[in-house]
Amino acid sequence: MNYISTRNKSLSVSSAEAIKKGLSDDGGLFVPSSMPSLSGSEIESLVNLGYIERAKYVLKKFLTDFTDEELKKCVSSAYGNNKFGEGDVVPLHKLSDNASVLELWHGPTCAFKDVALQILPHFLTAAMRKTGESKEIVILVATSGDTGKAALEGFKDVEGTRIAVFYPNDGVSDIQKLQMVTQSGKNVFVSSINGNFDDAQTGVKTIFTDDNAKKELFENNFILSSANSINWGRLVPQIVYYVSAYCDLLKNGEISMGDKINVCVPTGNFGNILAAYYAKKMGVPIAKLICASNRNDVLTDFIRTGEYNKNRKFYTTISPSMDILISSNLERLLFDISGGDDELIKNLMNKLSADGKYTLNDVMKARVSELFYGGCCDDNETKAQIADTFKKYGYTIDTHTAVAVNVYEKYVSETGDKTKTVIASTASPFKFGDSVLTALGESIDGKDDFELLDALCGKSKMPIPKSLEELKNKEQRFNGTCEKSDMLDEIKKFLNI
Ligand SMILES: *Cc1c(COP(=O)(O)O)cnc(C)c1O
Repeated sequence: MNYISTRNKSLSVSSAEAIKKGLSDDGGLFVPSSMPSLSGSEIESLVNLGYIERAKYVLKKFLTDFTDEELKKCVSSAYGNNKFGEGDVVPLHKLSDNASVLELWHGPTCAFKDVALQILPHFLTAAMRKTGESKEIVILVATSGDTGKAALEGFKDVEGTRIAVFYPNDGVSDIQKLQMVTQSGKNVFVSSINGNFDDAQTGVKTIFTDDNAKKELFENNFILSSANSINWGRLVPQIVYYVSAYCDLLKNGEISMGDKINVCVPTGNFGNILAAYYAKKMGVPIAKLICASNRNDVLTDFIRTGEYNKNRKFYTTISPSMDILISSNLERLLFDISGGDDELIKNLMNKLSADGKYTLNDVMKARVSELFYGGCCDDNETKAQIADTFKKYGYTIDTHTAVAVNVYEKYVSETGDKTKTVIASTASPFKFGDSVLTALGESIDGKDDFELLDALCGKSKMPIPKSLEELKNKEQRFNGTCEKSDMLDEIKKFLNI
């Protein structure tokens, strides 16, 4: 199966090429040229298999140019060896009669991005080999926290790759900083920069578009790449866990084969919920896709009105990974529901960059509201939801998951829909311990990060994730700071150029 650009469907490449390139040259995103299908009997055949086997089966349908051997290696390196703890890779926690929480945060950095970023480096190195590329990949990341750490953990010690991460001096939490400066691995580099996230991001973008720099790296046998969330190699592993969740509901006797389920996802860049849409398209019996936003509610309005308008105030919230005004992966959905109309998509995206907004035609608008329900909640509702979920179910959720649970409850009270629902849980509550403890009515005054972990453990009766607890005793390897203008020099030093 080939991959085509959302802005030019005559441009067609293999999955290895799509993963290696990340973004198409015309600025479009790569999408499968046709959607593979998954029949009911295929789903049933996966029910008694573990996550690794399920993943191999589903990925094989999309990455048709990868051999079984290659896929096996990618999947076992990512999800084997207890990298996601000793239990299931993505366990399903039954919350109530109708709702189950899909815990996507048992990976090394305690957030759902691990599911994709643990496997992407292996896809990428296989893709390099398959396309005859012998150079070493240098991954460059500017991060406001979560992505940088998840990328470092994914790429550390993966042969044929190096990774350099820059984070803003002011702008990441103490624990996020500690996670990065203590990073292990032979091929990693971390530095803070004097400035904010935008400065870090601009610095990285400048290097990506600097032809002289790229040439010099190239001559030294390196090529630059990014671990950005629009890479197909980050999206496809997310489809797997929706298939897997359906299998687990079957296995637990919650549903019978063919029963429809709803899926509710706390959404930012629209990657996670798009993966659920693709699972539905393949044949997983999914009815409604519930798209949950925080106070940055551009998607809620979009789903309800058909107008996408990013010209609005940006809010910093207690669910920071969803603080986003441009949801890049939405472009893939638009392409699909327009029936693959690349000209139309190009126009809409041009409108978005020129005017900050666009409006769907009536047919597409109707399709969006048939597929999706959009809802949002503010920080106060998020905190109240954490408290309420704890009180009602004795279950502690993080600030992002709380947005999803809140919007799910709004959906149910509005529609009365009793369909079994899978709610995606995207981060461990320990990752946002201060907000979670405050929401639960505990005082956080004067507590350092590790005391917060202990306090949350006491309150929630959940074990502290090992990777967070171990930070206390880890050596700090990367305490350097640089100016935005010196980032390239820092990279060259790291690469010994
Ligand atoms: C990235 C992230 C999200 C948003 O996911 P998208 O795929 O960008 O919609 C939600 N929650 C957490 C904890 C995240 O890190």
